[in-house]
Amino acid sequence: MHATPHPLTRRHVLQGTALGLTALATGCASIGTSAKARVVVVGGGWGGLAVVRALQADASVQVTLIEPNEGFMSCPLSAHYIVGLQPAADFQRSYAKLDELGVRRVRERALEIDRVKAQVVTASQRIGYDFLVLSPGIEYMEEAIAGYAQARDQLPVGFRAFEQAAVKREVDAFLTNGGTFVISAPKPPYRCPPAPYERAFLIAEQMKKRGTKGKILILDANPAPTPPPIAQPILNAMKSVYGAQIEYLPSTDINAVDMGKRTLQTSDGDIAFQHANLVLPMRASGLVRQAGLGERWAAVKLPRFLSQADDKIYVIGDAQGTPLPKSGHVAFNTGKQVAEDILARVAGTVIAEPTGTVDLPLGICWANVTHDTAININVASSMQPGQPPKLKFSVDAVHNARSGAGAVSWGNGMWKAMLG
Ligand SMILES: Cc1cc2nc3c(=O)[nH]c(=O)nc-3n(C[C@H](O)[C@H](O)[C@H](O)COP(=O)(O)OP(=O)(O)OC[C@H]3O[C@@H](n4cnc5c(N)ncnc54)[C@H](O)[C@@H]3O)c2cc1C
Repeated sequence: MHATPHPLTRRHVLQGTALGLTALATGCASIGTSAKARVVVVGGGWGGLAVVRALQADASVQVTLIEPNEGFMSCPLSAHYIVGLQPAADFQRSYAKLDELGVRRVRERALEIDRVKAQVVTASQRIGYDFLVLSPGIEYMEEAIAGYAQARDQLPVGFRAFEQAAVKREVDAFLTNGGTFVISAPKPPYRCPPAPYERAFLIAEQMKKRGTKGKILILDANPAPTPPPIAQPILNAMKSVYGAQIEYLPSTDINAVDMGKRTLQTSDGDIAFQHANLVLPMRASGLVRQAGLGERWAAVKLPRFLSQADDKIYVIGDAQGTPLPKSGHVAFNTGKQVAEDILARVAGTVIAEPTGTVDLPLGICWANVTHDTAININVASSMQPGQPPKLKFSVDAVHNARSGAGAVSWGNGMWKAMLG
């Protein structure tokens, strides 16, 4: 049996008037017909921007983006910046396009969600919403490694926008001075599981080019690279391309760091290092816990990504806790789907519960092995009503130039759709 192409296209909703319809699925209450519906989006990254762009032209809604940064920086492809191959600007886009389109932009952090009053609280205001979309991404679980919080500045993770410069600083120092550079990979779920291996590969490529003396040590909390379908292509590339530069230690947990001695206490004993990029375990932004929407991740109802606790709130992107990959492509496509769901509700449409298999947002990921070759990972997900999603991976067996070029054109296309 195969899936319907999209759970919430207009073919899957029953048209009706704003009055007098009985909701067939949770969260179908209309907000009324006179005023514009107030849609507030928290987070101008991969998920939030998809929602804003899909809603901004619709006359039935007024969309407000709450985001403290002045622009966007991509994590995907930013390894090319970290190793000095491209300027940071190649991966950044300004929010000027949103201003041109008349999107209301609040340049502050959301500090709190007051679900009783249906307001988002910032340092200077309370912003009321009829529908709230949260796409605030992740935070690091610093407590997982004793001593990390004191060493944060010297051990940047760099898995969020604009944090890559600190990682670049460590990589530059390593490529100049040599020694041991540690990269760690935590247990999933975390943002873009192939990314630690990709960073190691592109740094190793520069070691070869510059003749850096030393090694990259990958300390993996997992028994093999994750997710499992990419393990063999990643291990093969590690051995065949960077056998002299990379040492891989699987099933190794980092318990503590001592910056005085530059030593990591691990399940495999003490390990000395000169520079490091410790990729910590992750959880959803603290807003999710503050608002009572989940613990480590937000609990949402599939296929609509509605909060299990509150029918006015959708949580998308990496902050939500479904088994879908934590990928920008998933976040972006979920944002488009949720925008359509909101427009249907604003129009008073009753959304029918799916009765058969439905497709969930597609994931696409790229792991560069060299600057111009990559392993492509596609993840198609679908679900049956009441069942957990099923994920189907398609992975390149060998890194190749076609996927290397594909990654670049994918990135450019996505950034254009967000802010072009
Ligand atoms: C090295 C690396 C490589 C990657 N490669 C790929 C890839 O090849 N393909 C792919 O699909 N994905 C990839 N990803 C994953 C992708 O970056 C994430 O899945 C994506 O960013 C998730 O989108 P999001 O909207 O959930 O979060 P983000 O894009 O992180 O956006 C969150 C936004 O919310 C804002 N924010 C946070 N807290 C608040 C608050 N309290 N108030 C207001 N605003 C707030 C932040 O400033 C940020 O702009 C990669 C990630 C990394 C780190």
